[in-house]
Amino acid sequence: MKIKKDANHNGTIEKYDLLDVYFFRDLVKNRFFKPAVNLFFFIFLLVVIYFGLSSESDLRFHGGIPFATTMIWDIWHPLLAFTVIIVGRLWCFACPIGAVGDWTQSIFSLNRKYPEKYRNLWIAVILFLFIFAAERHLFMFTRNPPNTAYLLLFFTALAVIMGAVYEKRSFCRYICPIGLVLGVFSMLSAIELRCKSRKTCQDHDIKECVIGTEAGKACPVGEFPQTMERNNQCILCMECVKSCSKGNIRLSPRLPGADIIHSKKTHLDEAYLIHGIIVIFLFVMGMERLQFRNTIINFVKSTLPVNSITFLDLYWRNMWAVIIFLLITLGAAGLMYLSAKAAFSGGNPKQKFIELSYAFIPLSLSVYLAENTFRLLKGLFYLTATIGSFFGKIWEFSPDFDTINHLQILLLIAGSAFTLWAGYLISKRISGKDNELQQSMIVIGFIAAAYFMIGLKILTLPII
Ligand code: SF4
Ligand code: SF4
Repeated sequence: MKIKKDANHNGTIEKYDLLDVYFFRDLVKNRFFKPAVNLFFFIFLLVVIYFGLSSESDLRFHGGIPFATTMIWDIWHPLLAFTVIIVGRLWCFACPIGAVGDWTQSIFSLNRKYPEKYRNLWIAVILFLFIFAAERHLFMFTRNPPNTAYLLLFFTALAVIMGAVYEKRSFCRYICPIGLVLGVFSMLSAIELRCKSRKTCQDHDIKECVIGTEAGKACPVGEFPQTMERNNQCILCMECVKSCSKGNIRLSPRLPGADIIHSKKTHLDEAYLIHGIIVIFLFVMGMERLQFRNTIINFVKSTLPVNSITFLDLYWRNMWAVIIFLLITLGAAGLMYLSAKAAFSGGNPKQKFIELSYAFIPLSLSVYLAENTFRLLKGLFYLTATIGSFFGKIWEFSPDFDTINHLQILLLIAGSAFTLWAGYLISKRISGKDNELQQSMIVIGFIAAAYFMIGLKILTLPII
């Protein structure tokens, strides 16, 4: 591994460049490498869809083939969540759905610009809320293989349509709910793709990474390596590595969380999402363990227009779930906003609310992981048992709830500690005076303590 001088910092800071590890740069620059990876996962996607459509609809009542649900909800999704802190959005490099959008564009596209007013994350946030609510109450994706297959087909079709209408990767940047979550969490990741030297970029007359060349496409998400300061949008497609004739792109390891501490780019939609993930996942875990679930279930039942298990009832429950998710997210974001308003009299509380919310990304990820811990273990045990059966062996395990519970509590403690530390560093960066630093820490400490106490209370109760 070579050590490179980083000219962004006057040539004084040395950065490792993973692209220089053995043949890695040649590999990612090879024109067949990415299509081969995409094709592999595309075939796998087709296999998952095939098995999903071939199965009975509800695994609980009818048996059926759990392959599609296990692969998507117990392995792929939790693995993304658990690996994002190391590799960021690396999955987007391999993603077959994004690739299908690319393939569509290479055949036909109107190449329209994505409308300015929708260039934010709100559509992806709403889709995320809807899918999460529908998972529990309407389509039950995690135990319904055909519905899982339909969901995959829906997003593939959406990527095709958006590729045929809009330029670049509009689907990945503004619509994909997985891209949305990975984007925010990739601010914590232990790798970053950046330019080696801003001066080289400034002096380069032809911005090949922006306009594209024969060797590589223009950046599909509209990033410009010279000014990149956070990971959120970069889908690690490596096109800029191919197109930059100056060899000015590096992929470097770094301390997790660097973006949330140093980046000055902040957005309201991301701040809302950060709190949303924490409260929604705490709420879902709370529904498994707290008696108030019966109050909520009885309330929703009392509002049902008809009293039977029909599709309308399921739709009705799903609508309530979305409303509850929206309300609790607004409530949590509102509490943070009011705390900032009380602490910073005379300042700009909305801006403080947005800036300080980024400190909660570690806590947000830890709650997300806690909710996915059981699923990941279940998926890995299924995989082990399946591989064992190929060799005529019985390799069966089952998740131990106490161990999972301890792991979840550990995640919560680690996420809260990371949030306090990140909050301190963010507050130091944005505070002009000592009293502002104290006020920021009061807001962060108060909200982090509230989330932590609620999380701990829920996780120390037995599942009912
Ligand atoms: S092509 Fe390379 S050197 Fe030129 S602007 Fe892009 S990253 Fe910088
Ligand atoms: S072209 Fe470069 S900056 Fe743009 S998404 Fe791909 S890897 Fe990231």
